[in-house]
Parts: sequence; structure tokens; C-alpha cells
Amino acid sequence: VFPGVEDRARYAIELSRLNVENASGGPFGAAIFESGTGRLVAAGVNMVVPARCSLLHAEMVALALAQRIVGSHDLGAVGCFELVASSEPCAMCLGAIPWSGVAGLVCGARDCDVRAIGFVEGLKPRQWVQEMRRCGIRVQRDVCRGEADAVLKLYQAKGGALYNASTGSSASGVEAT
Ligand SMILES: [Zn+2]
Repeated sequence: VFPGVEDRARYAIELSRLNVENASGGPFGAAIFESGTGRLVAAGVNMVVPARCSLLHAEMVALALAQRIVGSHDLGAVGCFELVASSEPCAMCLGAIPWSGVAGLVCGARDCDVRAIGFVEGLKPRQWVQEMRRCGIRVQRDVCRGEADAVLKLYQAKGGALYNASTGSSASGVEAT
């Protein structure tokens, strides 16, 4: 059980750090918590390269596992859950979040921190935070941002792979400010 939002963020960041240290994927971690109690439901890390699947961002893995664990494709139908991620979502994960039924999103590093080490984030609406809130999803940004960004920098320092697509969707996207 992780009562505070920073505890939850630090758990997601720890997952990202372990993924870097174990060279088991990209520098991203995410987890689903029950909003009120802080009970951990599911965790995910980036598995794109080892699993040979571009869909397997940490957020997607955590959401898929949480839905399986609670027994519903719609997390909102069975409780109140939040997605806590070491970094802000890319365009794919941003699109998946409203379909998942989560009530909240907590992010560590900013989209621009992720792009600063060479990853592309896709075509995100400039006003994505407001759009999320309009969907009824609470958004908290910059929670332990420095700690999350340190893991991104660690990945870069270790020469971690940039697994951006070769064409098409690798458009650099817009500033998420
Ligand atoms: Zn993503």
C-alpha cells in the first residue's frame, strides 16, 4: 500500500530505474493503484525491444495487467484507479488512457525530458492535460520529476537503445507545455 502520491511515483520511478539497470527495456515504469487506499494493483515496465512489440510501453503493460487482475476491460466499472507513470505519456499511451477507465494520471518526468534524451513522443495535442481533465481524468504532473529525469539521463549515459520507429510515426510531435 502506497498512501501518498509521491510514494506511488517513487515506486514507478524505481521500476524504470530497475529496467535500466537490468538492461531489460526502455527507461520507463508505471503502476496502477487504487486511488483511495493506494493499494498497488499492477505494475509495468517498458518491454518494446525485448518483447519485439512496439505497443509494450510501461503504461500499456500496467493497464493490461490491471484490467486482467480486476477482471474488467473498464477499470472505472469496478473501482477508482489511477495510473502513475515515471514519465508523461506518449501519443499512443495518451490515447489508451481514456479507454482504460482510470480516474487519474500521475506523471514524473515531462514529455520534454523524454524527448531530450532522443525519444519521440508522437503527435500529442498541445492541450492534452486539459483534454484529459475534460474526460474526467485528474492529472498531476512533475511528481518527483527530478528523480524520474535522473533515470532518463542514466539510460542515456549507459547508451540505452532509442527504439523509435524508422518511419511514419516517428514524427517529433508538439511541445507538451
Ligand atoms: Zn507510451
